[in-house]
Amino acid sequence: MMKMTKMNLHKTAGLAGLMTLLAISAGSSLAEQTAGVVDVSTLMRIRDAALKSDYAYERLTELTDQIGPRLSGSLGAEAAVTLVAEGMRRDGLQVSLPAVKVPHWVRGIETAELVEYAHRPAGLTQKVVLTALGGSAATAAAGLTAPVVIVHSEEELQQRAAEIKGRIVLFDVAYDQHLADNGHAGEAYGDAGWIRFYGPARASRLGAAAALVRSVGGADYRLPHTGMTGWDGAAPIPAAAVTAEDAMLMSRLAAKGAIQLHLTLTPQTLPDADSHNVIGEIGGSDKAAEIVIVSGHLDSWDLAQGAIDDGAGLAAALGVADVFQQLGLKPRRTVRIIGWMNEENGVRGGKAYFAANQLQHHFAAIESDIGGGRPLGLIASVSRENESQFAALKPLLRSIGAPLFERHEYAGGTDIGALTASGVPAFEPLLDTRSYFSYHHTPADTLDKVEPENLRRQVALLAMLTWYLAEMPSELKHLPAVADEE
Ligand SMILES: [Zn+2]
Repeated sequence: MMKMTKMNLHKTAGLAGLMTLLAISAGSSLAEQTAGVVDVSTLMRIRDAALKSDYAYERLTELTDQIGPRLSGSLGAEAAVTLVAEGMRRDGLQVSLPAVKVPHWVRGIETAELVEYAHRPAGLTQKVVLTALGGSAATAAAGLTAPVVIVHSEEELQQRAAEIKGRIVLFDVAYDQHLADNGHAGEAYGDAGWIRFYGPARASRLGAAAALVRSVGGADYRLPHTGMTGWDGAAPIPAAAVTAEDAMLMSRLAAKGAIQLHLTLTPQTLPDADSHNVIGEIGGSDKAAEIVIVSGHLDSWDLAQGAIDDGAGLAAALGVADVFQQLGLKPRRTVRIIGWMNEENGVRGGKAYFAANQLQHHFAAIESDIGGGRPLGLIASVSRENESQFAALKPLLRSIGAPLFERHEYAGGTDIGALTASGVPAFEPLLDTRSYFSYHHTPADTLDKVEPENLRRQVALLAMLTWYLAEMPSELKHLPAVADEE
C-alpha cells in the first residue's frame, strides 16, 4: 500500500496528454536550447514513446507475478535469466549470457521467543518476529537459548566486550525515517545498514552466540527486513533482523531486568551455483566500439517478489531498449542493456563483467537500483569540467518533471561499482525514495508498490539519458580511479 499522499500525487490522469501539450508549447525553445548537440526531435520522440508505453510494466509483472523471488542460486533467479533473455531476443537485441558463479544461501526455519524477562507471568513466552540475514549461520535444530545484550553502536559493543561471550547481541539502531522523508533515504539506509553489514562479524569476534539487528527501514507494520551481512574472516554465527517493534519491546523489557531469548535459525550455505548475467546489445554506428551500459539487477531477496528491488530498475532498462527498437533508432555508440546477477549477496555478476571487459571501451554506465518511485532527476558521476556538456539534456528532464541533475563523484549502482571506481562516468535515476526502505528487502516488496506512471517516467528519463550519451559528439573524461568499496 502506498502512502495516501503518494497515491494522490500520482493518480493525476493523462500525463501523456500533458506531455504532448508541453512538447508543442515548449518545443521551439527546447530546440533552441539544445541545438547542435544531440537531435532534440529524436529525444522528444523517445520521451513521448516512453510515456505512452507499458512495456516495462508488463516485463515487471512477468518478473514478479510469474516468477516472484529471485535469490541467487534459486530456480526463480534462473527463470529470470531465461525470461529476460527471451524478451531481449524478441526485441531484436544481440543477446549473450556470460557465466557467473554465485553464492547459494537458502533460508530455513526462523523463530524466536522471549523466554525470560522481569515480571514474566509464569509459563508465558513472547514471540519475536525476525528473519535471517543473508550469510547467517544456523543454530542447532532445536535452537539456542541465551541472555540478550543490547547495544546501540559499534563503540558500545567494544566498551561492553567482556559481556558478549555466549550471549545474543542485539544492535538496536533505528532507521531515521525523518531523513528519508526529506530526500535522504540513502543516507538513512547507509547509517543503519552499516551495523547490519558489519555488526554481526564484530559480535562474532567477541564470542557472541548470535547477533540480531533492528530491521533497517521505515516499515512500521512489524515487518522484518533482510539483507546481507559480511563476515570478513570472522566465524559466521546465527544472525537475523528483528522487526523495529520487537527491538523496541526487547529494549523496554531489558530496562527492567535481564532478558533471555530462544532462537532457532536453520539457513544453509550450499555450494556455489552456476548462473548468468544477461546482456542485450544494440550495436552502434560510427562509434560502435564505445559502450553505454543501461542496467538493473535480475536477482532479489527471497522474502517477496522484488518488485521495487530491483524489478523496477531492470524493467526500466529493458524499456529503454524497447523504445529505441520501436522507433527504429540506431545509436552512434553501442548500447548494452544488462541484467546483473547477484547484486544482493555477492555482486558476482558485476565483478565478473568488470574482470572480463575492457575498461577503456566504456563511455558511460547507468544502473537503476533505487526502486520505482517518481523520478526527480539524475545523479551523475562525471568530472566537474564535463558537467556543462549535459546542459542540453536539462530542459528535456524538466519537461518530464525530473529537472534535478546532481553531480556526485563515484555515486551509482552496486553492480557498476567497479566500473565507477575505475573512473567510468556513471549515472543513476534520482527518484522519490521516501517509502522505498519501508518495503525494500521485506515481504512487502510486491508489484502493487510500483505505480505504472512512475515507471513510464523512469523509462522516459533513462531512455533520453541513454540516447544522449550514445549520441553526444564530445568525449567524457574518466575520473581518477579510486578503491572500489564493494
Ligand atoms: Zn537492489
